[in-house]
Amino acid sequence: MIKGFRGTSLVDYPGKISSVVFTYGCNFRCPYCYNIDLVLPERYSKLEDIPEDVVIEELKRRKGFIKGVVITGGEPTLWERKLVYFIERVVYEVGLPVKLDTNGSLPDVVKSLVEMDIIDYWAIDFKTAPERYKEVKGDFSKVEKSFEYLKPLGFRVEVRITCYPPLVGKDEIKKMIPYLEGFKRIAIQKYEPYDSISGEKVEPYTKEFYLWLKEFLLENLRDLEVIERF
Ligand code: SF4
Repeated sequence: MIKGFRGTSLVDYPGKISSVVFTYGCNFRCPYCYNIDLVLPERYSKLEDIPEDVVIEELKRRKGFIKGVVITGGEPTLWERKLVYFIERVVYEVGLPVKLDTNGSLPDVVKSLVEMDIIDYWAIDFKTAPERYKEVKGDFSKVEKSFEYLKPLGFRVEVRITCYPPLVGKDEIKKMIPYLEGFKRIAIQKYEPYDSISGEKVEPYTKEFYLWLKEFLLENLRDLEVIERF
């Protein structure tokens, strides 16, 4: 399940120094994705698996310095029971809170984790307008269900919008607004033209777009906090 580990991060868990655990495999294919080694089977098959026990021991060793654990991917929820068991170990055996990153494509796994109340902080992606989800090989009806399970958690959830110009423009944002209603925290993320799955390097937006987006969200959604990552 795990093919990557970063011992210390200052930026992945809001307000906490964390370690980051990377699971492999993803059911989406976002053109801008730069986690190629964890997403494409021909790439991750060449990486060593890191046993969960090794990661748990490393987390115990670092506890005291790190204050949380981020689980990201790939798409962690694809691991279902195995993921749930690992999270339980981090929370109850190591004693650290967990942040989980997800694309929201497996609402049943999201629902179980919400019911178990073992995730301290969630980050869920909103990739583009619902009708364009097929362009990332996703099914928005499933993501929408995950949204509904997460909305009641308030400030423990952030919705991440990565502003990749071909998928996120003003028209798409307008279509995304009704589904964002009820979330308390939205992170506007800058797209950077790294080496990606599509191999295309698209010209990123200028700051003007990000500022427009922030204003637009605040005008159209109630009780909202916008996190600027641009
Ligand atoms: S959902 Fe995330 S990991 Fe999967 S392809 Fe998209 S950006 Fe990459």
